[in-house]
Amino acid sequence: MKIVIHGGFFSESSQSDETKLKKQSALKDIIKKGYDFLQEHSALETVVYTTTLLEDCPLFNAGIGSQIQGDGKIRMSAAIMNGLDCKFSGVINIEDVKNPVLVAEKLLGEEDRVLSGHGAKKYAASQGFKAFSTETKERREEFNLKLKSSKTGTVGCVALDKNGNLSVATSTGGKGFEIPGRVSDSATIAGNYANKDCAISCTGVGEDIINAAIACKIVTRVTDGQSIETAFDKTFTELNEIDGFAGAIGLDSKGNMYWKESHPKIVFAAYDGTNTFMFQ
Ligand code: ASP
Repeated sequence: MKIVIHGGFFSESSQSDETKLKKQSALKDIIKKGYDFLQEHSALETVVYTTTLLEDCPLFNAGIGSQIQGDGKIRMSAAIMNGLDCKFSGVINIEDVKNPVLVAEKLLGEEDRVLSGHGAKKYAASQGFKAFSTETKERREEFNLKLKSSKTGTVGCVALDKNGNLSVATSTGGKGFEIPGRVSDSATIAGNYANKDCAISCTGVGEDIINAAIACKIVTRVTDGQSIETAFDKTFTELNEIDGFAGAIGLDSKGNMYWKESHPKIVFAAYDGTNTFMFQ
């Protein structure tokens, strides 16, 4: 059993040591909760649960604390993928829900599994999700001051359960100040992908992640026989060739964990039951 989480790519770039420490301590706490949960739950249930904890923490750019789009509204995106049956579901630019990843989870049982905008919001309401504002004072102040550099991080989780199944979840408030309706990579197969061999969650500039098709490419390379390390290296070489800005975490079915970033900015944690590995 293994679990790896991340708290985003931009997290460390423009923030004080105090904020960094707070984020690292939040990740340490959340990964332990996720690991405990994994003891009795599937990888899929665990990535959803752990991502709700990350979404509920205002330090990260997902759920509560999400960035604000150019028209002053928060629109969030989240996706999950079950490696066991290769099913992906997600919401794109959903408004007014506390945990977008839980709406993505609900959609896994539907024939139509990726919903956007108004449709996603209506679907969430029809499933009993209460209207909830994820806006925080800090994000509104940054927005009002046009503080574009003060990015916080998208979140993601990959897990391998006791039956050897992999899953992934990724959730984001986007990049902030974007053209309303801009689609993040997080609810696409470029940012969030898993099969029975490998699970990958990305963070960084969504457009770059989509250009390099990072998550889907790494997973496919592992399935085709490359080690997770080689698959990451090859994919990030291609990302660097187009000057892309991204990071990713991953797990393969043998429990090998791997991560990489094109610039040293991602903040993430891994826990193996005894040791917590913290990065950045
Ligand atoms: N990938 C996210 C996006 O472009 C942002 C991030 O990871 O920080 O929407």
